[in-house]
Amino acid sequence: MNSENKDESPTNFIRNIINDDLRTGKHNSIVTRFPPEPNGYLHIGHAKSICLNFGTANYYDGFCNLRFDDTNPAKEDIEYVKSIKEDILWLGFDWDGKIKFSSNYFDIFYKSAEELISKGLAYVCFLSIEKTRSYRGTLKSPGKNSPYRKTSPEENLILFHKMKAGEFKEGECVLRAKIDMSSNFMCMRDPTLYRIRFDTHHQTNDDWCIYPMYDFAHCIGDAIEGVTHSICTLEFQDNRRIYNWILENLDEFNLPSRPHQYEFSRLNLEFTTTSKRNLKLLVDNNHVSGWDDPRMPTISGLRRRGYTPASIIKFSEAIGVSKVNSLTDVSILESAIRDDLNSIAPRSMAVINPIKLIIENYPADKMESIKAPNHPQNEKMGTREIFFSREIYIDREDFLEVSPNNKYKRLALNKEVRLRNSYVVKATRFDNDKDGNFKTIYCTYDSETLGKNPSDGRKVKGVIHFVEASSALEAEFRIYDRLFSESNPSKFDDFSLILNPDSLKIKYGFVESNLSAAKIERVYQFEREGYYCLDNQLKDKLIFNKTVGLKDTYK
Ligand code: ATP
Ligand code: MG
Repeated sequence: MNSENKDESPTNFIRNIINDDLRTGKHNSIVTRFPPEPNGYLHIGHAKSICLNFGTANYYDGFCNLRFDDTNPAKEDIEYVKSIKEDILWLGFDWDGKIKFSSNYFDIFYKSAEELISKGLAYVCFLSIEKTRSYRGTLKSPGKNSPYRKTSPEENLILFHKMKAGEFKEGECVLRAKIDMSSNFMCMRDPTLYRIRFDTHHQTNDDWCIYPMYDFAHCIGDAIEGVTHSICTLEFQDNRRIYNWILENLDEFNLPSRPHQYEFSRLNLEFTTTSKRNLKLLVDNNHVSGWDDPRMPTISGLRRRGYTPASIIKFSEAIGVSKVNSLTDVSILESAIRDDLNSIAPRSMAVINPIKLIIENYPADKMESIKAPNHPQNEKMGTREIFFSREIYIDREDFLEVSPNNKYKRLALNKEVRLRNSYVVKATRFDNDKDGNFKTIYCTYDSETLGKNPSDGRKVKGVIHFVEASSALEAEFRIYDRLFSESNPSKFDDFSLILNPDSLKIKYGFVESNLSAAKIERVYQFEREGYYCLDNQLKDKLIFNKTVGLKDTYK
C-alpha cells in the first residue's frame, strides 16, 4: 500500500499503540490475524474486524493471517470454512501465507499443557459441573479450592495422558489452570484449559478426544505465528489476564516480543443481530431463506442484496474503532451503499406496479428506438437502447384522475408529464376494471418533444418512468425492509416475536428489454424507484433484489 492511500483511512487508538511499539523498538514489523470460528457465516461485525486486522497490517506493510479457530468440533463445519474464505476474498482482502487452523497446533497445545502440569500450574479436576460452579464463588464472594488442586504434577501428567487416550467419559474431568480461586476476575479462578469431546473434527477427524479452550489456544496460536497485536472485542477484556498468564508461564513463548491482546468495541447494528448463534437460529427456524438471504446482515446476504465491497469498507471506516459499546445507526450503512451506487450503478427503468398507457395519436405499427444515457453525470458509461410505441407501461402510483394540487408532478387527466428519456404526454381518459380500479389510461403525445421542451413555451414539470409494452421483460421485484421491528433486538429473548412481518414484499412488473443481458450481482438504479440487484439464483425469470432506496426515507 502506498503512502497516498495510507493517509485516507482514519486513524484509531490501535494505530497509536502500534506507532509507540515501532518507535520504542518493541516490534520492527506488525503481524495481525483474523480468527473466525467456523461455526457460521461471516456478518457485518466480522467485516469491521476484517477491515481492522487486514487494514492495520496493510497500513504498516505487515502481515495478516487468517486462522480458523477450530477448537470446538461439535459446532463447526467445513461449509463455514469455505464461505468464510470466499467472503474475505470478495471484500478484497487476502491473507498472508497459507491459511492457518488452530488445529494445526494441537500437538503444541498438548505439550504446553504438559509443561504447565509439570510446573504445578495445571491439574486434572473431577468436580461435577454443579460443584465446579458452586466452588467458583461469585463476583462478591471468593471461590473455594478444588480438592484436585493438591494432586501431584506426576499424577496429573498420568491423568492428562489418560484423558487424551480416551479413558475418561465426556464431562468426567477437565484440565484446569491453577491460578487463584479468590481473584477479583472470575475468569482467573482456575479456568478450564482442556475438555473431553468425542466428536469428529473437520480437520483432524478422530485423532483427538480432548480439545483446548479458546483462552488456552488463542494466545499460543498467536505466539506460534509471531502475531504482534492480537485484536479482539471488548468481551475478552478480562480474559487478557489469562492470555498473559499462559504465555508468561511457557518457556518458549515468554519473550519480550510476545503478542499482546488489545480490545475494541464490537459492532452492534440497529434492527439487526450480529450474534452468529442468533443468525443460525433465523436460518434453522426458516425465518429467512438461508445464510445469504438478502435480509441477513451476513457478508453473503449483503452481497446478494447488492452491497459492494467498497461500501462495506467505507462503512467500517465511518463507524471507527473505539472502546465504547454502542448501537450503530443502520442509516450509516445504507448511506454508504447509496453513495457508492449513485456513482457506479447504470440507470434503467422498471415498472413495479404496472398499468397500461395507450398513446392514441401514435401510429399503431410504429416502434421507435431511443438511445438513453446510462448515467446522467457520466457520459463514459455510454448509452442503451430503449423502445417507444403506442402501448407502454407506467406505474399505477403515477396516475390520478384529478391532479390534487399544483405541486403534483405526475400524470392526471388533462395534465402533461414527460416520459423519462422520451416524449411529453397528456392523459385524456381511462377505463376501470369491474372493481373500480384504473385498468387502462389513454393519452396523446406531442411528437415535437423528444429530447426537447415544447416549442410554444408550455412548462412540463413532472417526469415519470415507463417501459415499452411489447418489448418489456417480465420481472419479479423483492422489496426488503428491516428484519426486526425493534431497533435493539438483543433486548429480546425470543426473536420470533419481533420479526417485521413486512420484511419482504414481492411484486411483479416489467423492465427494459436490454436487461436480458443483466449480470448477476450487477446493481441498477431503476429511476425514481431505487437500487436493484439481479439475484444470484438464476431462475427462468428476472428477479431483482432491492438494495436500498434513493433517499433515506426511514427517519
Ligand atoms: P460467536 O457469536 O459465535 O461468539 P464471534 O462473534 O466471537 O462468534 P468469531 O468467529 O469468533 O465470532 O469472530 C472472529 C473475529 O471477529 C473475532 O476476533 C471477533 O472479535 C470479531 N467479531 C465478531 N463479531 C464482531 C462484531 N459484532 N464486531 C466486531 N468484531 C466482531
Ligand atoms: Mg468467538
